[in-house]
Order: sequence, then structure tokens, then C-alpha cells
Amino acid sequence: MSPAAYPSPQRVAQLRENLSAVRARIAAAAHACGRDPGQLTLIVVTKFFPAADVRALADLGELDLGENRDQEASEKFRQVRRDARYAALRLHFIGQVQTNKAASVAAYADAVHSVDRIKLARALNRGAAAAGRVLPVLVQVDLAEPKPSGGPDDHGDGMRGGVRPDQLAGLVEQLRAEPNLTLRGVMAVAPLSADPNAAFARLADLAAQVSAVAPEANWISAGMSSDLEAAVRHGATHLRVGTAILGTRPTLR
Ligand SMILES: *Cc1c(COP(=O)(O)O)cnc(C)c1O
Repeated sequence: MSPAAYPSPQRVAQLRENLSAVRARIAAAAHACGRDPGQLTLIVVTKFFPAADVRALADLGELDLGENRDQEASEKFRQVRRDARYAALRLHFIGQVQTNKAASVAAYADAVHSVDRIKLARALNRGAAAAGRVLPVLVQVDLAEPKPSGGPDDHGDGMRGGVRPDQLAGLVEQLRAEPNLTLRGVMAVAPLSADPNAAFARLADLAAQVSAVAPEANWISAGMSSDLEAAVRHGATHLRVGTAILGTRPTLR
């Protein structure tokens, strides 16, 4: 391996320490509400950080990783997966997907958490079919309160994407007709200005509505570095944590 292929011992020590702190937070949050931490999946969000960090995280036992941009994710994971030792890594795609990138993402992602429109679902389905796979997907829900003056493009806090709750059932029904997609659940980001407890309680209600029609759709992807406790309290099964493990990302890319 080239020197850039693996982080320094100091970096590995820092990742190990941050991981154990996050794992302790998750365990405490789970115990506080009578949940089994073993039932929660930590997805370590490696966006902005190099392939070297991904290898170190895998060696520390973290096999679920998250990325949010097609080009970055495909290059980084192609490099890492070249080594058979890292073949078991699971890549969760958690960012907005442009329709013209869907075929690319469908070929390498192990799950796409951010499906929010039928056009994207159909493009992912075609890409998965072309790659000879069945792709697990989640529907991303927009939990921002619609502003009174808001038009159809008003996504509240910063255009994070997601289907409006009143359109969730329709999208779920259409998505389930796509033969190369399998619906695994719902995903959301708590709106910046809202109480995460209220947002994740809402998400839990919506998740229950989805799993009532699609029992296999039992994932709730919710909770990040700042609000994972609230997510655990409200039934999250998959936590997406970046900053608390890898450190602060650069603000521009
Ligand atoms: C970056 C990102 C995360 C991780 O956020 P942190 O605050 O760094 O833990 C989680 N979910 C999504 C959708 C993201 O884009």
C-alpha cells in the first residue's frame, strides 16, 4: 500500500477514541429507553474524508459507511474495495441523487437512503436492473414545517430534500412496484430550527404507516452527531454519524 493508503497511528488512535465515545452515547441512549444497542446500526459518514480513513474504520470493525456524493463515493469505494479485505464494507448512500447519477449509484451502493421522487426511484430501478442487482432503498421524508408563504419549492431549512409527509404513501406505493428496488424504510434529517424530539416522533409515526403496508420496510434512518439520542429515543434503527467520529469537515469543497 502507498503511504496515503493508511492514516497515521495518531489518526487511528483518534478515530478509535471518537468511535468508543459515540458507541457509549448510543448505548446510554438505548439503555435509557429500554432498547438493545445491538439492534442499532451505526453508519459512519465518511464524506470529505479519504479512503485511508475508511480502511482504518473498517479495521476498527465499522463496516457500515455513509457517503453523499456520487463522484466522491464511487472513487473512494472503488479504491478501498480493490482490496479483498474490505469487500464486506457496506456503502449507504445518504445524499441527494440527481437522476442522471442514479445508474451510477445503483451499481455500487448497498442502500440508498434518499429516494424522494418517483422519477429517481425509476432511474435507480433501471440502474439496478442493468447491474443485475436488487437495491435496498429508503424514502427520505422532509420534516420541515411548510412555511405559510411557502411555494412548492420551499424545503424549509436549506433544501435538504425529502418527500412531503402527505405524499409519502403515494410514493411508497409507486416505489414498491419497481422490481429491482426493495423498500427498507424511511430516512430523515431533523430540520435545523426544530426540536429533534418532535421531528423524530413525527418520523416514527410515518414509519409505522409505511411498515403497515410494507412490513419489510422496518428501517428508520435518523440521528446525526448532534441529535442521535433523540433519534434512538424515537425508534431509529440506523444512525448516521460523521463529525463526532471523523472530526469537523471543511465548509467548502
Ligand atoms: C453529513 C450527513 C450526516 C452526518 O452528519 P454529522 O453531523 O457530521 O454527524 C448525516 N446524514 C446526512 C444526510 C448527511 O448528509
